Amino acid sequence: MLEVKGLTKRFGGNVAVKSVDYSVQQGKINAIIGPNGAGKSTFFNLITGVHEPTEGTIIYKNEEITRQPANVIAKLGVARTFQSTHLFEMSTVKDNVIVGHRLRTKSNLFDSIFRTKRLKEEEQQCIAKAEESLDFVGLSHVSDQLVTNISQEEKKRVAFALALATDPEIVFLDEPTAGVNPDETDEMAKLIQKMADKGLTICLIEHKMPMIMRLAHHIMVLNYGEKIAEGTPAEIQKNEEVIKAYLGG
Ligand code: ADP
Ligand code: MG
Repeated sequence: MLEVKGLTKRFGGNVAVKSVDYSVQQGKINAIIGPNGAGKSTFFNLITGVHEPTEGTIIYKNEEITRQPANVIAKLGVARTFQSTHLFEMSTVKDNVIVGHRLRTKSNLFDSIFRTKRLKEEEQQCIAKAEESLDFVGLSHVSDQLVTNISQEEKKRVAFALALATDPEIVFLDEPTAGVNPDETDEMAKLIQKMADKGLTICLIEHKMPMIMRLAHHIMVLNYGEKIAEGTPAEIQKNEEVIKAYLGG
C-alpha cells in the first residue's frame, strides 16, 4: 500500500533518517519503535509531506508522492496525528474536527463567495462527518465544550477524530499515548484496535512496549536514523541488535 525506498533526510550535517526501505502492510497495525532521536517523527514527516526528503522515493497506492505538499497527500487519504497535539484551544471540540474534514472537501473561492448549493451541502457533510468521528472516538458528550476545558486524554482523542474526519485509508499516529496514565493507555489501545477493525491501515510510533507487543502485526526498529530490524513482535523481542540499542550495550 505504501512503499518507501532509500528514504533519507539530512538536517545540515545531521542524518535524521538514513536510507530506509519500508513497506506498510495494508489493513494492519504497523509499529515503529526506537530510542529518542532515532528519526521516527522525521520519518512520518517525510511520508506525510511535512518535510521534503533529501533522497529516496515514497509510493502510495502505485502513485509516487515524494515531495508532494502535505495537503495533497492528505487528500489522497493519508492522515496523521502529531506528537504534541495542535488544537484550537478556544474553539469547541466539534469545530476543531470540522476543520479536519474541510481538508477533503471540494468547494472553492467561487462557492464561498456565492454560497453555492455545493458549499451548503459540503458544510452539512462536514458537520455530519465531525459528529460521526467524535462518536467513533467516544467524545460525543464533549463536542460542544471548548478544547481548553477537556482533559489531556480527551485532547488525544480529538486528534484521532481530526484524523478520522479526513476519511483516511491510512493513519499515522505519533506517540498517541505520551503523557496519559496506564488506564487511559489501555483505552487508547482499544481505540487503535477499533480503527484497525474498521479496515484502516495504522502506522504507529510508540514507546510503551507491552502495548506494541499486543497491538502490532509488524514492527520496524529505527536507531540513529537507520532501520536495524523489522518483523513480528515475537521476532523483534528476541533480536540481539534491538536489545543492544535499547540497553545501550
Ligand atoms: P524521534 O521521533 O525518533 O525521537 P526525531 O525524528 O524527532 O526523532 O529526530 C531525529 C533527529 O533529527 C534528531 O537528531 C533531531 O534533533 C533531528 N531533527 C528533527 N527535526 C528536525 C528539524 N526540523 N531541524 C533540524 N533537526 C531536526
Ligand atoms: Mg518523535
